[in-house]
Amino acid sequence: MKTFASTFLCLSIAALCFVFVKPQAQAVDEAALLKRAQKLHREAIVIDTHNDVTSLLLDEGFDLADNGVKPDGSLRSHTDIRRLKAGGLDAQFFAVFVDKDFVNKPVREGGGAARRTLDMIGVVYEQVARHPETFEMAFTANDVRRIVKRGKIASLMGIEGGHAIEDSIYALRMYHQLGIRYMTLTHTNTNDWADSEADLKNQNVKHHNGLNDFGKAVITEMNRLGMMADISHVSDKTMADVLATTKAPIIASHSSARAMANHTRNVNDETLRAIAKNGGVVMVNFYDGFIDPRKAEITLASRAKTEELKALYPNDQNKVNEELAKWRATQPKFDKTPLSVLMDHFIHIIKTAGIDHVGIGADLDGIPLDAAPVGMEDVSKYPVLTMELLRRGYSDGDVKKVLGENILRVMSECERVAREMQKAQPAPTPARLK
Ligand SMILES: [Zn+2]
Repeated sequence: MKTFASTFLCLSIAALCFVFVKPQAQAVDEAALLKRAQKLHREAIVIDTHNDVTSLLLDEGFDLADNGVKPDGSLRSHTDIRRLKAGGLDAQFFAVFVDKDFVNKPVREGGGAARRTLDMIGVVYEQVARHPETFEMAFTANDVRRIVKRGKIASLMGIEGGHAIEDSIYALRMYHQLGIRYMTLTHTNTNDWADSEADLKNQNVKHHNGLNDFGKAVITEMNRLGMMADISHVSDKTMADVLATTKAPIIASHSSARAMANHTRNVNDETLRAIAKNGGVVMVNFYDGFIDPRKAEITLASRAKTEELKALYPNDQNKVNEELAKWRATQPKFDKTPLSVLMDHFIHIIKTAGIDHVGIGADLDGIPLDAAPVGMEDVSKYPVLTMELLRRGYSDGDVKKVLGENILRVMSECERVAREMQKAQPAPTPARLK
C-alpha cells in the first residue's frame, strides 16, 4: 500500500507543478480531483483481463517478486508485485497465451498446444503458491470480491488461442476445471473452427466464414461451463457468429475501438453496439500499435509486408527478418503516443456501447516494453486512468464500472447461465470435429 501511495505522490507532485503555472481556480480543482481519484481507486475493484507476463514467467524464469525495472530505470517487464501494488490492481487475468508455433510442435521442442497450455497454467499456480501473501487463485466473481476484501490480488486465467483445446471439448472442460475463465477463440491464426482477423487474406489458410459447426459447439460448451467467450483477435464474421450463438455475455479481453484507429484487431461500431445488446464488455488494449491511428496503419502494413516476405523466402527466416528490418527503416517514426489517444478509445466505447460495456485489458507484457502510451507505462499506472475518467466528468459509480464492476457483472452472468444450462441438461457427450 505504501507504493500505491507513492504513485499518487508522483501525481500530486505533478499537480503541484500544475498549480505553480496555472491560475488558482483550476489548481484547486486539480488537487480536489487527485484526492477524489485516490479515494475512489482504493475503494474500487480494479481488474485487468489481459496480462502476458505469464510467458516471461515460463520462458525466462522471471518471478513476480523480482524487480522488473533495471537499475538504469529501463524496463525488464511491465509487471511485478511492487508495481501491481503501486497500481492498486485487485484482480489479474493471467493470459495463458499459446503461440501458433505450438500447433504440432514435437515433444522434444516444447510439445503441442495442449502441453503449452498446461505449462502456462502450471506457472500461474506456481507463482500464486510462491507468493501467498500477495496472490490467491480466483474462480468466480464472488471469489474476486472475497479475495480483494482480504487485501490480496485475485488471480485468474484466460486462454489466448482456441487451438489450445486441440479440437477437443473434453480438453476445454478440463481447462475449465483447472480454472480457465475465458478463452480467446483464436490468436493470429485461424484454427480448425474459427477465423482469425490476421490471416483472412492468406489463400493457403482454410477459412470457415466465421465459426463452423464445431466452433458453435465450442461456444455452447463454454456457455455451459461458465467460461467467457473472448472475441479479441477473431474476424468480424467470427464475432458476429459468436454473438448469434452465445447464450451468455461475451468479452473482448484486449481490444480497442476501430473508429478511433483503423486496425482489424479493434472492434467496429456495429459490433460494439451488438456487444452492448448482448450484455458483454470490451476491455481496452493499451498497445500504441493498435490505438494510435498513425501507428496502427504501420502495424497493419508491417503484417502484410511480413506475409509477402515469407512467401518470397519460405525457408529463410533470417532473410525475412533482414528485409523486414530494411522496410521498417523506411517507415515514418512517431513520438510516443499521448495518454489522450488511449482515453479517446475509452470515451468512444462508452459513447457507442455505453458505460456498462467497457473495461481494462491492457495487454501489458504482451506488447513491446516502450509501446504503452505516455503516463501508462506499466502496471503501476492504473490510478492515472481513474484520474482521467474523473477529469472527463464521469461519476464515481461510472468509473467503478470501468475499473472492474462491468467484468464482474459479466462473470456473474456467465456463472448464472452455466448453472441454468447444467440444471436443464447433464453434461452432453461432446461434439467432435468432422
Ligand atoms: Zn493478444
